[in-house]
Amino acid sequence: TRAKLIAGNWKMNGSLAANEALVQALRAGLQEAGGAGDCAVALAVPAPYLAQLQSLVAGSDIRLGAQDVSRHEGGAYTGEVSAAMLRDFGVRYVLVGHSERRQYHGESDDDVAAKAQRALAAGITPVVCVGETLAEREAGQTEDVVRRQLAAVIRANGPCISEIVVAYEPVWAIGTGRTATPEQARQVHGVLRAQLAAATAQAQRVPILYGGSMNAANAAQLLAQPDIDGGLVGGASLKAADFLQIIAAAR
Ligand code: 13P
Repeated sequence: TRAKLIAGNWKMNGSLAANEALVQALRAGLQEAGGAGDCAVALAVPAPYLAQLQSLVAGSDIRLGAQDVSRHEGGAYTGEVSAAMLRDFGVRYVLVGHSERRQYHGESDDDVAAKAQRALAAGITPVVCVGETLAEREAGQTEDVVRRQLAAVIRANGPCISEIVVAYEPVWAIGTGRTATPEQARQVHGVLRAQLAAATAQAQRVPILYGGSMNAANAAQLLAQPDIDGGLVGGASLKAADFLQIIAAAR
């Protein structure tokens, strides 16, 4: 069976002082609980804080993540951060294709696929985010949308696809307090698992996370579903007690 993964996505939040307090509280809480057990824990932090976080998580069970990566290898791309740069700071995971990147920065399926490729080439696990908007769900397009988004990544990455993590994040559930029901999430996760299985014999290895208003109160029920292998947690990852409870629900 797949180990669970709970990843916090800090988005554009944090400060040197707040990061230190949060990570210290997480480390203390994890130690008190006897470690994260089988559950892998990661934090996807804003790029300027990678160096700080690298030292804050050293010697702990917390793995370092980033929120985006350039589709280019290097060179004249002002403002971009390359996969090799992330690797320099010990980054193990990078989100690609978060809906906020797709929505506000015009990232296409092709961009997302190329970013996943760059991450894999640098030895970083891409966490490929997929998910439908409310309008798409109401139009009955959920399956088509997530399959199209994942298909681009499968096409570009071939057999390496077994090395990715997928995160299903319905856009209407992000930051809204409106979580997908366990049944809604399980259904989409099943679709994604089947799509992976058609692409690789190793599909069972790929963790599929749920994201969208996951919190201490609803995590256990979501994580109990087959094919929900963890969570990608926004708001609740900014509060140590909440994030620790979600990790506890995954152990
Ligand atoms: P919230 O947990 O704040 O809804 O955010 C989810 C998300 O977008 C994680 O990537």
